Amino acid sequence: MKLRLLAIALSTLTPLACFVAYAGQDPQYEVVEVRDGVHVIRGAGANTVVLETGDELLVVDSKFARHGGALRRAIESIRAAPIRWLINSHHHAENCDGNRALPTEATRIVAHDNADRRMREDSRRGADVRFKSRLTLQVGDETVTCHHKGAAHTDGDTLVHFHDARVLVAGGLIAVERHPAAATEDGTDLRGWIRALVELERDFRDDELIVIPGDGEHGGRALITNQLAYLREVLDYMEDAQRHGLTQQEALRNADLLRTKFVDYGGDHFEAMLRLAYQVAGR
Ligand SMILES: [Zn+2]
Repeated sequence: MKLRLLAIALSTLTPLACFVAYAGQDPQYEVVEVRDGVHVIRGAGANTVVLETGDELLVVDSKFARHGGALRRAIESIRAAPIRWLINSHHHAENCDGNRALPTEATRIVAHDNADRRMREDSRRGADVRFKSRLTLQVGDETVTCHHKGAAHTDGDTLVHFHDARVLVAGGLIAVERHPAAATEDGTDLRGWIRALVELERDFRDDELIVIPGDGEHGGRALITNQLAYLREVLDYMEDAQRHGLTQQEALRNADLLRTKFVDYGGDHFEAMLRLAYQVAGR
């Protein structure tokens, strides 16, 4: 047990990182082992997570179909084993477009009911296994639970918990140093998102927990707290603007302090986030 804890501590402090480059137009991925048998493939789309367990692999999110071959090779560089399960954290293209390219006959795709519906509407390959609020899979030696905490980033978000590895794959609920997408047509619910993160803070109290965001670098529980603070700050600002009777245009014009605060963040979704927050704050 002590050895295992030491291994966990070491892997927290010194993740093994290597860069995998391929010929031609293939993207350059960064592959990081964040904990024994748990790897993150970063670059060209959302984070893809690979869990090695028994003779099989479980993968969360499939990036873009056009890089399906490159992603498969990156996964094989971790371990040449069949992908038994592919879980989609939600329906955005950077998370699930690769469903058309990555799975083999042996792969079963898992997604929330709403994500599955939206994937099919977008002509993507849908799920073989769907769930509403919770689904537990025994995969090799690992117990994996998929959670849906209600509409948040979208109305079909899935969080994935690897129990023994003590890893939470947060999917679209957490982006690190990046503005997450927020759109009514995707079912984004800002208050629901805040509620979901409050629940995560309450339910995942393990200080050794590793949180893997949908975008950006992995970290500890602080990632949950930081995302919560970001959403609260945006919503608080817009509630204040509503209380003072500002129109949406005036509220957006006066939001430069917020824009300055998050000036280093990547992604181009902040204006959409601010507009949605103003609408939500008025209700
Ligand atoms: Zn997303």
